[in-house]
Amino acid sequence: MITRRLALGAAGALAVLPVRPRPAAAQGAPQAGARPAPLDIAKFDRPGEGSVNSFILAGERSCVILDCQRTRVEARHVVSLARGTGLPVEAIFLSHEHPDHIAGLETVAAAFPDAPILAGATTRDWIAANRAQLIPFLKSVLGPAAPDSVPLPTRVVRPGEVLTLADSEWRVDQIGPCEAGGMTLLHNERHDTLFAADLFDNRFTPWLVDGTTGAWIAEIERNLPRYGDVGTALVGHGAAGPARPMMQDTLGYLRFFREAVRRELPAPGNASGAVPAEGRARIRAALAERYPGYPQVVPLPTLLDMNVDAVARELRG
Ligand SMILES: [Zn+2]
Repeated sequence: MITRRLALGAAGALAVLPVRPRPAAAQGAPQAGARPAPLDIAKFDRPGEGSVNSFILAGERSCVILDCQRTRVEARHVVSLARGTGLPVEAIFLSHEHPDHIAGLETVAAAFPDAPILAGATTRDWIAANRAQLIPFLKSVLGPAAPDSVPLPTRVVRPGEVLTLADSEWRVDQIGPCEAGGMTLLHNERHDTLFAADLFDNRFTPWLVDGTTGAWIAEIERNLPRYGDVGTALVGHGAAGPARPMMQDTLGYLRFFREAVRRELPAPGNASGAVPAEGRARIRAALAERYPGYPQVVPLPTLLDMNVDAVARELRG
């Protein structure tokens, strides 16, 4: 169960990350005299277990909100942060379908009713198919901090599309399945910045319950040559930073977790097929030693067991 304290949280953490554009000469095809428009990025996250990031991209004339938090309370902090820029909110963008990124959308969209809600097709379709069941579930775990609805995205963004957001250009990349059924990334080459969402995280215990760790590993491997040198990766969980060490850490965690579960799988023919209690204890100890202090992406005390069960099912095929 998500406790009320964990679900509601106590404090917001705000950090402003100035993003320095790379010198034009380093980008291959400099245009004489062309300078990228200034871009500032602010991050909101409620610290602790279940911490998740939203970002405000602030340009010269407008700003954009990336992801909307899990609860109304957290979403109101995102609204305040966007208002604090003094700029009109030109769009709200959703990276993927998981509730910690979309459940606050109702609050954010109500505060900025003229802003289009942008999302990839997988996110839009998931919300359309699942939002009726999602609300009672969120109410049961989050209580009054849960939303009454999840609005539908109003504009589906397409892979390869170039969007002008906060006065600069962002290329849409649609990937997945990986951590979720789909993941929509935004890459800004001029500012050497990638909104990576949950393709990788910064030293968090991830959500493996979608049961697609094999596909997830393949997506990170496929994207390492493309995004490994990015200087500022905006991740869904943890601090922003250079992409490569975070990609390699998430990759290592996923491989380590799969091997740890593989060693503890019961022999074929075992009736339940579930990893026994002693095996779970060994997996837990191995993770605590190799990845100490990694907070969880969701504040569920049962997350590790859910991850073990999901990966065991995935490995058994
Ligand atoms: Zn997440």
